[in-house]
Amino acid sequence: MATQEQQIKAIEAEHLLQVYRRIPIVFARGEGSYLFDTDDRPYLDFVSGLGVASLGHANPDLAEAVADQARTLVHTSNLYFHPLQGQVGRRLAMLSGLARAFFCNSGTEAVEGCLKFARRYWHTRGEPRARFVALERSFHGRTLGSLSTTWEPGYRAPFEPLLDVTFVSPTDPAALATACGPDVAAIIVEPIQGEGGVWPLTPAFTDALTEACRTSGALLIADEIQCGLGRTGAPFHSATLGLQPDLMSLGKALGAGVPIGAILLSERVADAISPGDHGTTYGGNLLSCRAALVFLEAMEHGGFERVRQAGVTLGGALDALAQRYPVITDIRGAGLMRGLEMPADTAAQVVEGALARGLLVNRTAGRVVRMLPPLTVSDTEIDKAVGILAEVLDTLQSGERDV
Ligand SMILES: *Cc1c(COP(=O)(O)O)cnc(C)c1O
Repeated sequence: MATQEQQIKAIEAEHLLQVYRRIPIVFARGEGSYLFDTDDRPYLDFVSGLGVASLGHANPDLAEAVADQARTLVHTSNLYFHPLQGQVGRRLAMLSGLARAFFCNSGTEAVEGCLKFARRYWHTRGEPRARFVALERSFHGRTLGSLSTTWEPGYRAPFEPLLDVTFVSPTDPAALATACGPDVAAIIVEPIQGEGGVWPLTPAFTDALTEACRTSGALLIADEIQCGLGRTGAPFHSATLGLQPDLMSLGKALGAGVPIGAILLSERVADAISPGDHGTTYGGNLLSCRAALVFLEAMEHGGFERVRQAGVTLGGALDALAQRYPVITDIRGAGLMRGLEMPADTAAQVVEGALARGLLVNRTAGRVVRMLPPLTVSDTEIDKAVGILAEVLDTLQSGERDV
């Protein structure tokens, strides 16, 4: 007799498009910072569904609001008004300083919309600009427009030709000025590059960005899908860096697990866009907006402050870890978005060893062990996670000595 787990894997192998290399665990439920597999074994979750389960798993406030909304009204389309979109828009405007919001369903859709709105802005001004500038190591999504601005050549090559995008190294501020001519519609950046290996933009580079936008006129798109919405303790990391984006893409944490993305626009860009220029069937429906309201309320009521504190705890614990284990060559990130750099084979062993001890972390850019715990993670859970990483690094070190 096949186990339940084997049956789940077999049906997927037969019927699903094989684009994911899944880790062989089947999760059945969650609670707070923990996930439980089909044998009810707990895992401390420092991935949080790639920064999505922002309020932890099975959050009671979210569960109640979503259930209530499901009993009331889930979806009407954007043909009609409903009471919640404006409320989410107002909160996001207060947090970001960007006046207007457009709601969609995912991160890549938010980036897609930013690229369209940048093009539309220049079209309206009667000087069409087609080209975009993006950064090496960037990740902006997988649909054709956002894929065009995603660095990893392996992701892009099979789908070319894509949009006209010039990639600039984030370690080469001078290259930015050269890349930005009068034909550039927008520059798109992640304030902290996530998938690329948790790389915050340097002060020298953010200065160059502001200068390049000023001299070329290019709009600035801040992709805050991973690092925004409280992940670093601030509403948006672009503001922490002193950047003033014209457009912002949001996703991941916003619905705390219910799919919703958003584009935030300055009044200047919004003024260039007319009714009918863009749209979506699902975007900003009642269910997803209700979830976003629960998330934003939690953040406004102590959530940002809590992440700042937790970020100090995590940062301190990781610094101490790196002191003890020289195999860690760099620690990067801010708040509850952190990466530990080490040789790729070690990073793979750390992720595997942590999993065996009931801790979920993931590896990105080959050499980086990334942590994106729920924004509600406790200090005790942070200590426990870093303790498990230390145990794993201990066994790897003693393994080396045994050889
Ligand atoms: C995850 C991510 C995206 C893509 O979001 P999806 O919801 O997977 O489409 C885009 N940009 C950044 C910075 C991300 O981290």
